[in-house]
Amino acid sequence: CGIVGYIGQEDTKEILLNGLEKLEYRGYDSAGIATLNGGVNVSKVKGRIATLREAVDENIHSTLGIGHTRWATHGAPSEENAHPHQSSTGRFTIVHNGVIENYVDVRDEYLTDVEMKSETDTEIIVQLIEVLNSELQDVAAAFRKAVNLLSGSYAIALIDAQDEETIYVAKNKSPLLVGLGEDFNVVASDSMAALHVTDQFLELMDKETVTLRRNEVVIEDPNGEIMSREPFTAELDA
Ligand code: GLU
Repeated sequence: CGIVGYIGQEDTKEILLNGLEKLEYRGYDSAGIATLNGGVNVSKVKGRIATLREAVDENIHSTLGIGHTRWATHGAPSEENAHPHQSSTGRFTIVHNGVIENYVDVRDEYLTDVEMKSETDTEIIVQLIEVLNSELQDVAAAFRKAVNLLSGSYAIALIDAQDEETIYVAKNKSPLLVGLGEDFNVVASDSMAALHVTDQFLELMDKETVTLRRNEVVIEDPNGEIMSREPFTAELDA
């Protein structure tokens, strides 16, 4: 189970697939990626990254995307339950590692009108963000509010089909790092998944939310206060 995300100048597919291969050692039963370029394209499979590679359309180019390897906890390993997951309108797309402990409560309180497409705890996060955004009309605020309503463990990356400049990121009790580049930024469960593009990383604290743009990383605490953070240099073990 792992996450990788990229926003920059290069074609995303290969960066995401390479990153996911570096996370294979963590174990997984399915894998998927979503890329954004005038619309979201999702490819996901039950099985290996090699199978995902074959499912990804060579002709789709994008400089923004998220990827996932899944270790099923809620819902059987299947293509429907594989990540990324999308909200009902297709506007929001998410990848998630971890377990949302209060997903039944969240569903019963906020999502009684929403038809779920998967059996995962993850889908409630992306559906919740869509519902909150239609109230708040502010994606960053909806993302923060959604994350604050969740209990359990999560590493999350979210993209918005209407915004090709941003990846939203959050974590609690699951590993997630931001990697810094020149005109690009990445997010990954493990520096191994991003060492092919950068060795500069920012550590994230539990319950922070992060806005990743090509030339900017903004980290906020649960109240929306901006946090400063110094990068560290990660090295490949010899
Ligand atoms: N709980 C989520 C699921 O079952 C995420 C599992 C994971 O960490 O890969 O889909």
